[in-house]
Amino acid sequence: MTIFQKIKQFLLGENNTTEAPESYCPNCWGRQEYEGEFLEAVHREQIDLNNLDQKKGWIDAYATRYFEGIKLRTAPEGVVCGACATVYHRS
Ligand SMILES: [Zn+2]
Repeated sequence: MTIFQKIKQFLLGENNTTEAPESYCPNCWGRQEYEGEFLEAVHREQIDLNNLDQKKGWIDAYATRYFEGIKLRTAPEGVVCGACATVYHRS
């Protein structure tokens, strides 16, 4: 799944909106208010579910710029966040 697809899923509410998109650090997503800032930016761009696909470029650029740092990386013990170093053990 691409970043765009994940974010689309997130905006469509297929994930619980208080949770980070899959493969991003839930700790950073919540605590550092990535979610709030992202939703605010989406609102500023006047992105809604009708024009979401046309705004793919903007969303990809935003994700690359702001979310790369909180992306979870695979580690021997599970996945680890590059920003806060929280380790999420595989369940
Ligand atoms: Zn983190």
